[in-house]
Amino acid sequence: MTNLPETFGSMVFDDKTMEQRLPKETYRALKQTIRLGKSLDQNVAGVVANAMKDWAIERGCTHFTHWFQPMTGITAEKHESFLTPARGGVIMEFSGGELIRGESDASSFPSGGLRGAFEARGYTAWDPTSYAFIKDGVLCVPTVFCSYGGHALDKKTPLLRSAEALSRQALRALRLFGNQEVQKVIPTLGAEQEYFLIDRELFERRQDLVLCGRTLFGARPPKGQEMEDHYYGSIKPRVSAFMKELDEQLWRLGIYAKTEHNEVAPAQHELAPAFTDVNTAVDHNQLTMEMMKTVAQRHGLACILHEKPFAGVNGSGKHNNWSLASDAGVNLLEPGDSPEQNAQFLLFLTAVICAVDEYADLLRVAVATAGNDCRLGGAEAPPPIVSMFLGDEITAILESIMEESEYVRRDRMEIKVGVHALPPIPKDATDRNRTSPFAFTGNKFEFRMPGSAVSLSGPNFILNTIVAEQLRRFADRLEGAEDFNGALQSLLRQALKEHKRIIFNGNNYAEEWEQEAARRGLPNLKTAVDALRCFTAPKNIQLFARHGVLTEEEIRSRTEIMLDSYCKTLRIEALTMIDMCRKQIMPAASRYGADLCRAALDKRSLSPEIDAGYETELCARLSSMNALLGRRVEQLERELLGVKDQETALACGEYYRDVIFVSMQEVRALADGLEAVVAEEYWPYPAYARLLFGV
Ligand code: ADP
Ligand code: MG
Repeated sequence: MTNLPETFGSMVFDDKTMEQRLPKETYRALKQTIRLGKSLDQNVAGVVANAMKDWAIERGCTHFTHWFQPMTGITAEKHESFLTPARGGVIMEFSGGELIRGESDASSFPSGGLRGAFEARGYTAWDPTSYAFIKDGVLCVPTVFCSYGGHALDKKTPLLRSAEALSRQALRALRLFGNQEVQKVIPTLGAEQEYFLIDRELFERRQDLVLCGRTLFGARPPKGQEMEDHYYGSIKPRVSAFMKELDEQLWRLGIYAKTEHNEVAPAQHELAPAFTDVNTAVDHNQLTMEMMKTVAQRHGLACILHEKPFAGVNGSGKHNNWSLASDAGVNLLEPGDSPEQNAQFLLFLTAVICAVDEYADLLRVAVATAGNDCRLGGAEAPPPIVSMFLGDEITAILESIMEESEYVRRDRMEIKVGVHALPPIPKDATDRNRTSPFAFTGNKFEFRMPGSAVSLSGPNFILNTIVAEQLRRFADRLEGAEDFNGALQSLLRQALKEHKRIIFNGNNYAEEWEQEAARRGLPNLKTAVDALRCFTAPKNIQLFARHGVLTEEEIRSRTEIMLDSYCKTLRIEALTMIDMCRKQIMPAASRYGADLCRAALDKRSLSPEIDAGYETELCARLSSMNALLGRRVEQLERELLGVKDQETALACGEYYRDVIFVSMQEVRALADGLEAVVAEEYWPYPAYARLLFGV
């Protein structure tokens, strides 16, 4: 890559391109649409579509697609060519109608009962707030995906709705402080993406990795991550070449890939982009995951995005750095320099504290997948208990507000804290606490529970909505107040007192925290199934309905889809296990046993003097271990038949969690026991040591 500023965004129909290629009027109308969410005139759309098409054709495109994010969590596209037959030949066309709206059969995408087979059509609608781009020679137009009845069938719709709701309420809060200029408040997101890279040839020799994205078997290697020699270590040449190409691809797509480093586990890495508005950031994260996989393939590598691909070493997460910005780019979670600015900061901070406490269950729902269950709570990732880290300094300031007591500043000066007399809030006040699920990191919050594979739409539409709700309540109370400062002071005091239980600055990995959290009454939703049953709680249905983010029907359908996906994931894993045991592991152990047996016989027939103890004892041990595994596999298979007796999606999820998952762990323990004793040349797939240290 020669010229970064020139190549950056070269595959994106971005603001600069639009300004260059659109007539002034059209450009202005489109900007209005983007900035204020105004609907776009058909004629304007026609002009935009035409300019987009010309731009795309110049870059070698022959097709376009509405690019959308169905409930599968990955992205979907159906390519259509620009080609239109005309007078015996063809012309290239792309109309405003085609840009704005697409119809798709799409009946195989999960809808959780929202779209019966009789009404299988769904439609996609252009999201002009996320730029169109070219991928693989196809013009991709970001879109939302809805049913004919207007129900959201995708991940983007609630995210867009929630950002609007949050902006609406945040503006009310800003007006209270006399701010009349801001027209829109934008949630911002920086998504740190963790992943594993292993040799592709080794990857393909493991059915569990190919089908499930994680290893279902694998004895612990002699070396794991205990030496801590991988973290921030120098990057191996093959990995470095991968990262270079990945950066180039992402930059072309206008994705601000910024830092890359080795993570804690061997073969684990991380990519962090510079933050941007939440809608773009979520789209970019989806594209980043896709690019990681394709670029890895070109380098003879496999990129693994699963939350826990290897037992015994760290899993992968996706840290969700979230804040709020005004349309002028001012960060609303940045402590200010003056008491007034700090009062506003404290209002927003308190809103987030109340939101996280009251809707901790929803934040847990946002990260509820079968894969993440393998990671959360393993003393490598936050526990399933949501709590907040604020750091000592901010906690002390909040305490003195609650207690109406003196606050001792860093310079030892004591001041009475109130909205009239707020201490300067130190910007570096937050020391790092890596164990917290939800940490204030100076001017943003870092939500660390999302797993590496999840679409960040879920965590963010929930975060946006729960904060919007608190801001709504605050604004309702403060808008009519005669003495604003007095009312604000007492509101903050009361709200903090009510919700301070969510603040925990200690070690979230410690066992005592679980007990302490229980004493505080914080929910401890250990598994995805436990979490998902909370989604439809009346308070949550009311919340999403009030802010127009999701209807009750849409919530129920989403719950259903998430439970279904949990069950399917476990089913595929269980079946893969059975298959690998029957076709690979047990035959291998048996073959090795038979060879040992033959060797023992040979020795004996040569001379009874020769000691065949090694062969005989090992063979006996192998035989009984293998027989045990065989019986356990049969039991798992029988248990899978029990699924059909479960009547609801929830019952099904519980059955998988309590019966199948437990059984799978037992099967694994037996198989891993065999791996530890069977000679390497007999073992049917590459062992952990080669996977983790093989690149
Ligand atoms: P770390 O030490 O965890 O790498 P950084 O400050 O480098 O912390 O930021 C980590 C992530 O947080 C980056 O993706 C960055 O873009 C993002 N980030 C920084 N400021 C904001 C903000 N105001 N809103 C959202 N994300 C942010
Ligand atoms: Mg981080």
